[in-house]
Amino acid sequence: MKISKIVLYDEPAVPEIQLDKIKKFITNTFNIKVETKGDFFKSANNDIFEKIATTRIFDLKNQFKKHIPTIEEIQIEKENNPHQKETSLYDGFELQNIVKEYIQTNENTLHIVFTNRLTATFDESDFRYHARALIGSNPAIISITGIIEAPAKPKQFYLDLMTNFSENRIEEVNKKYKGEFLEYHDPRMYEILEGYVLQIIVYYETGEAFCDKKECRLFNAHWQKDLLHSQIESKKLCEHHQGIINNFNKSFR
Ligand SMILES: [Zn+2]
Repeated sequence: MKISKIVLYDEPAVPEIQLDKIKKFITNTFNIKVETKGDFFKSANNDIFEKIATTRIFDLKNQFKKHIPTIEEIQIEKENNPHQKETSLYDGFELQNIVKEYIQTNENTLHIVFTNRLTATFDESDFRYHARALIGSNPAIISITGIIEAPAKPKQFYLDLMTNFSENRIEEVNKKYKGEFLEYHDPRMYEILEGYVLQIIVYYETGEAFCDKKECRLFNAHWQKDLLHSQIESKKLCEHHQGIINNFNKSFR
């Protein structure tokens, strides 16, 4: 394997991440050393917060344009208030470039940064931004909010909501579909993260993105239902990808 070490950076606002457990999962699966660190953004130079604020997106239907942040917006980044995160969008590739500036990268060390900021990327095929759970490559970013917001909920859920927007109605609809999709502080989040970490490692190592089999943990889920299926109900790799991981470990010995 070209990766000999992985550095994981925590998002303290999301205790469900359980970084030490992820470390154990990686070392049990691969022959890779893992180091865990605290909040990446807090550990960087203070000027990073202004830079992050420049990556915010306000127009979903236009390509990225650097935002000129207000003092208040920079303050929001410093505080990293979780409630703010459900409503702000950040350009994932711009954010990744900023992270890169603050990390000494080499080919053999893969950095994985967890954040509750909601990352999005501009899609040339339909000319609009879409929320993303994962920004791959090195450093890789896993957006916890992206995991909750990017894969779609059942179609009927949106239709039910459309009939009435009152607060009571939203609560009622949420109750009806409870369990069918991830919510904030969902106890199932940890297992989902294992899958995304696998996707990052295999992609970085092979350049081969995702799997088309729903029962494989490398499946790129566009629906919450499929995400829960591949990471929790199935919770395994397809034969092809299990073979790839077995080969990684063989070649390392
Ligand atoms: Zn697969």
